[in-house]
Amino acid sequence: MEQTTSGRRAFLKAGVAAAGATLGTHAVRAGEHAAATAGSTSVPDGAAFDVIVIGAGFAGLAAARDCAQRGATTLLVEARNRIGGRTFTTQFAGKHLELGGTWIHWTQPFVWSEVRRYGLNITESPGFNPDTIHWLAQGRLKRGRADKVFPLLGEGMRKFCDVDGQSGRTVFPRAADPFFSKAVAKYDDLSMQDRLDRLRLPPDQRALVGAFLALDCHNDPRLAGAIDQIKWWSLGDFDMETMNNKLGRYKLAEGTSALAHAMLGDARVDLLLSTPVRTVRTENGTTTVTTTAGRHYTGRAVICTVPMNVLKTVEFSPPLSAAKMQASHEEHIGKGTKCYIHVRQKVGNWMGYAPFPHPITAVWTDRELDDGTLLVCFGPPDKLDINDESSVQAALRTLLPGADVVSVTGYQWTEDPFARGTWAMYRPHQTTRYLDPLNAREGNVFFASADSAHGWKGFIDGAIEGGVRAAHEVITHLKG
Ligand SMILES: Cc1cc2nc3c(=O)[nH]c(=O)nc-3n(C[C@H](O)[C@H](O)[C@H](O)COP(=O)(O)OP(=O)(O)OC[C@H]3O[C@@H](n4cnc5c(N)ncnc54)[C@H](O)[C@@H]3O)c2cc1C
Repeated sequence: MEQTTSGRRAFLKAGVAAAGATLGTHAVRAGEHAAATAGSTSVPDGAAFDVIVIGAGFAGLAAARDCAQRGATTLLVEARNRIGGRTFTTQFAGKHLELGGTWIHWTQPFVWSEVRRYGLNITESPGFNPDTIHWLAQGRLKRGRADKVFPLLGEGMRKFCDVDGQSGRTVFPRAADPFFSKAVAKYDDLSMQDRLDRLRLPPDQRALVGAFLALDCHNDPRLAGAIDQIKWWSLGDFDMETMNNKLGRYKLAEGTSALAHAMLGDARVDLLLSTPVRTVRTENGTTTVTTTAGRHYTGRAVICTVPMNVLKTVEFSPPLSAAKMQASHEEHIGKGTKCYIHVRQKVGNWMGYAPFPHPITAVWTDRELDDGTLLVCFGPPDKLDINDESSVQAALRTLLPGADVVSVTGYQWTEDPFARGTWAMYRPHQTTRYLDPLNAREGNVFFASADSAHGWKGFIDGAIEGGVRAAHEVITHLKG
């Protein structure tokens, strides 16, 4: 597994992922994964399988496990030299650090079922429940106790989601069934910024809501569909505190990689790491997957879990539907930064917010360290150079005056050719245009991704939802 060490200028760049892909094909029979590096098995060129799963993120891991457990010979082909996709557990000061997807919740049904199945545990992130909050409003730094500031933010978010006079309940009456209400189509052209502008909130509330929206869309709220935020609100039971607890309070004590490895180790799956797929061709009922190294594998069915923003880089024959290609070319807008900032000060349980285009839209205490505090920080794309500690320090000091940055640790997901983004947040119109087409089967090729989940779209839970669904579709297809 790629690891980053902490220290000055300690970070992972996209280059590391790309470099990982050049390490040479690494074939591992899952179930023997712990001994993988010592005793790799090999998959001969031209080998035939019932199912080939492309991508070993949580969608691919769930799909491959379920197919294999139901008796299908299964090959899992992964571009990077590790499994986990947009989740990536590394170590910092002897403890887990999640560079990608992190927080889960027991009301997320697919991931929680895996947590229970494999006997994993959760731990709390204290900083998402802070004592004090700083925020920037009209260029001025404001400070307040969280028990005063959160209600202001929560009321603002309720107003934001209240497009229908019922707190968004008529838009997503069933959060996991996105098209249950026709009202979705009515609001799908509305951007987050347009919705915010219509509200005419008082300056402090507007600044807090603006920052929260920028955090959630991981970009400029002008590019984001308001409907995705309303969906999160519905998934959060139409309540700010409940939504927050689901979004950022609980994480896997053993790390997301422990879950990924538990899933992989639970079935007989052949795994190829460092093996990017270049083409997927179906002829005479058989689908051939060809890697960038020119190796071929055939499957009676393929499950493609390549992210929405990456799909266009794989060549399909027959070509993918116009809707899938258009979605991939338009891309979702989750493309911002996530990094950890080690500061020398003990800042306590603290949180900071600033609206777009500030380079840091949200930052909070991840944990106290012996020699300071570790903050977790989110910002929009191209605003914060996480390789430049002095610019990170300058940005942070606008929210936390006097902060002294010791190191910055992060991973540049958007520059990673196998991610090209972070969590999926759609542009206006994309929900009605692309959500269902992205999931639609094309011949022998089935699709699954967090980026097009019905429930927790953009989350680990959504990835597993897609993988479980696609595996069932494939097994049914193979039996037929
Ligand atoms: C910074 C960040 C923070 C996040 N925070 C949270 C959070 O707190 N909670 C949460 O639930 N979710 C969070 N997410 C989102 C969550 O991590 C993802 O939505 C989810 O993990 C995606 O799973 P997936 O399997 O659909 O896609 P991925 O994990 O992206 O898996 C797809 C796999 O396909 C591989 N691949 C791509 N192209 C090819 C190719 N040509 N050939 C072979 N393989 C290929 C990729 O390498 C990857 O392994 C976060 C994501 C990021 C990046």
